[in-house]
Amino acid sequence: MEKAVSDRLTATTIAAIELEDRYGAPNYHSLPAVIATAEGAWVTDIDGKRYLDMLSAYSALNFGHRHPALVNAAVEQLGRMSLISRAVHSDLFGPFVSELAELCGMEMVLPMNSGAEGVETALKAARKWGYDVKGIAEDRAKIVVCERNFHGRTTTIVSFSTEESSRAGFGPFTPGFVTIPFGDADALEAAIDQDTVAFLVEPVQGEAGVIVPPEGYLRSVRQICTRNNVLLIADEIQTGFGRTGETFACQREDVTPDVYILGKALGGGIVALSAVVSSAEILGVMTPGTHGSTFGGNPLALAVGREVMRLVRTGEYQERSRVLGARLLERLRSAASPHVSEVRGVGLWAGIELTPDVGPARGVCEELLARGVICKDTHMTTIRLAPPLMIDEHDLDWAVDEVVDALGALGG
Ligand SMILES: *Cc1c(COP(=O)(O)O)cnc(C)c1O
Repeated sequence: MEKAVSDRLTATTIAAIELEDRYGAPNYHSLPAVIATAEGAWVTDIDGKRYLDMLSAYSALNFGHRHPALVNAAVEQLGRMSLISRAVHSDLFGPFVSELAELCGMEMVLPMNSGAEGVETALKAARKWGYDVKGIAEDRAKIVVCERNFHGRTTTIVSFSTEESSRAGFGPFTPGFVTIPFGDADALEAAIDQDTVAFLVEPVQGEAGVIVPPEGYLRSVRQICTRNNVLLIADEIQTGFGRTGETFACQREDVTPDVYILGKALGGGIVALSAVVSSAEILGVMTPGTHGSTFGGNPLALAVGREVMRLVRTGEYQERSRVLGARLLERLRSAASPHVSEVRGVGLWAGIELTPDVGPARGVCEELLARGVICKDTHMTTIRLAPPLMIDEHDLDWAVDEVVDALGALGG
């Protein structure tokens, strides 16, 4: 820990972080706060200091911490049954898959746990569809992906990452992926050949720093995929469930993908729940024994997921995302700090791009943490804001004031 940081911390917090550093594998560089309790948009650390959560676990907490309806659904289900495995049927499975198919305007659902597993499942289904339905020669299937993508951390998924830190030391990699620039529909057209089965894309790139593609991009991509019999796979793990102001970001351009990959907020911030949602033609290639997961579709997760869908169907969160998001972006843009080169965003989701002279964005996030605002840097120069969609307007304004003030105080 740097001295400038540790000087601001209590002995209790330093001891907790040191224990973590000693026994926890060092695959994260967490901000120096040890959170113990949480409610709504607010969290409290082990010293009793409160913070406004302006990150919401990368959108897994779209409905806030411990939403009463979600907690209720989980507690009630814990009183009935937590796990049975799919060796037998369970009473919630049918209701969950039918409701999620309906919400997505699709035919079939395959539930998994982490987002990365959802992506893996979609890639496997797309490849198998390529062989069984499209008629591609064995082991020839190609999937097109975008530069600066983020789809998770498994070996196959990092195989097509363009982030050196995600790949270095983890080879050999899975072949069969072709990379094109994000936001460039012509590049997709040019990348497709007779072996292409799918185009995997985030409708808005989250981890890359909230990169919103040019208007019409998804529509063009949809047309190109349809014309070439290539599956459009939308990774809506971070964009889904209201973050961009619609239930799904594809709806902003009236686009229906062939496959949705969902995760994060689907589990209500309580459980890991992901799902692949698609047509019977595509998911129907998954015959018994070809794919599975012990915890996939467990009753506890499905009970929470069904309650998440109930919240989403009210439209309230999408509306808050649009209204509060417009306010957030307007206020950030009008603040016009000389240290900010760009404010990107959509819905209640913003990426603040800092000029190179002010050093890593992490420093600003540490300063904001000291002021009681949790947010996270990405790619060295971007501060990402993604508060829970239930955040109070005054709390949001307060956080924006702190962000603007912290940016104003920057030297360089
Ligand atoms: C977070 C994320 C994933 C991976 O989800 P995990 O639950 O962390 O495995 C995949 N795709 C996108 C777009 C994400 O934001």
